[in-house]
Amino acid sequence: MDFDFSPEQRAFEQEVIRFLDEHDDPDVFDLTRENMAQIVDTPKRRAFMREVGERGWLGLTWPKEYGGAEGEGVYEYLLNEQLAARGGPQIGKGVGIIGKTLIKEASELLKQEFLPKILRNDVEFAVGYSEPNAGSDAASMRLKAERGERDGRPGWILNGQKTWTTSAHFAEWYWLGTRTDPGNKHMGITLMLVPLDQPGVTIKGIWTMGDERTNEVFIEDVFVPDEYVVGEVNHGFQYISQALDLERFTLFTFSPMKQRLDLLIDYVNTAVRDGMPLRADPVVRQRIAQLVTDAEVARVLGLKVVAASMKGEKVPGTPPPTVESSKYKLFATEFSRRLASASVDIGGPGAQLRVRTKTAPMEGRAESTYRYTVIDTIGGGSSEIQKNVIARRGLGLPKNF
Ligand SMILES: Cc1cc2nc3c(=O)[nH]c(=O)nc-3n(C[C@H](O)[C@H](O)[C@H](O)COP(=O)(O)OP(=O)(O)OC[C@H]3O[C@@H](n4cnc5c(N)ncnc54)[C@H](O)[C@@H]3O)c2cc1C
Repeated sequence: MDFDFSPEQRAFEQEVIRFLDEHDDPDVFDLTRENMAQIVDTPKRRAFMREVGERGWLGLTWPKEYGGAEGEGVYEYLLNEQLAARGGPQIGKGVGIIGKTLIKEASELLKQEFLPKILRNDVEFAVGYSEPNAGSDAASMRLKAERGERDGRPGWILNGQKTWTTSAHFAEWYWLGTRTDPGNKHMGITLMLVPLDQPGVTIKGIWTMGDERTNEVFIEDVFVPDEYVVGEVNHGFQYISQALDLERFTLFTFSPMKQRLDLLIDYVNTAVRDGMPLRADPVVRQRIAQLVTDAEVARVLGLKVVAASMKGEKVPGTPPPTVESSKYKLFATEFSRRLASASVDIGGPGAQLRVRTKTAPMEGRAESTYRYTVIDTIGGGSSEIQKNVIARRGLGLPKNF
């Protein structure tokens, strides 16, 4: 069994590293934003992603007929991990979740409108599934869509509320789950594309314990013409489920975890406590050894998702590997949390100092990740939900009662 990348894949990775070295800019790359570094939320970050698009790297795996390179998923993985390793914006949402769903399910009209923009990074999306009473059980969403018309155009009138919509305050388009049939829970949801900057859409910030912003979004009498329905009416939940498999993998990259593990190892190797080098403490050594082993498990679980996806790519229309994605998301994000806890414990009182405090051990990342890493065990589906997916879809166990 060969876990290594091929010479071509390594060469591509080196090309990405050179490109990132040339574009090094603290306004674009910021590891201290933790996993929220992936969002493309400032003009400089957008300009950088446009350049990534110009290199042809936003459509690495897309079909040629839509401007892609039809490459293997491993190239996208390598690119995204390198972007994440520096705290740079990443390709998960537009290219992965929305682009890939549009390619598979949407009308030619929507493909022609959105796919070229995604490839040039000329558009940002916000994803609206969660509502105050629909989180883990996303199929309970209630944002009401009723038939109507405006200026002679047939379509849908929307009313309701979403919550936890990351990116809504700067994105142009809303990838929105709506309730089109109240009588059918799973087959009564429709995905729509809705401009965010219009009357009837009110966005209110929610600040998380990880210092990053997400949003509540209120929708009042917003009209969506039929052309902006993604795929078939009432089939939205099926598309959302497939996109979530992608999200669970692409939005939770491994390299920032490895980078924090390296910070902790450096700290243990150099710090002295009570006159003794920390590296001589048997408890600390045990803990580090366990974390290094866990990191390797997370890395390999990630590679398994890539390998399973690549097998699927040979059969068009194969959904992404659900159980593998859930195993990776569960293990990697829980590991990330354990790593943050260990960094605070091992860093001692100084670990409470914040990022950009000169004397803070581990550059203040122990404190920030102790708060931030909780979020990754919830967003994209909580750890409990990943366990349910593994139990039901992977092991065939019955639904919990
Ligand atoms: C920072 C952040 C950003 C987010 N961004 C977005 C976004 O952009 N778009 C979007 O649509 N959503 C987003 N979310 C929402 C996220 O997907 C939900 O928070 C998540 O799915 C959990 O839903 P909930 O918060 O309603 O919790 P609940 O579903 O109410 O869960 C509460 C607790 O119960 C547990 N639980 C629930 N059901 C089960 C079960 N069947 N078995 C066992 N345990 C269970 C959960 O694991 C959790 O511990 C974001 C969330 C956060 C925190």
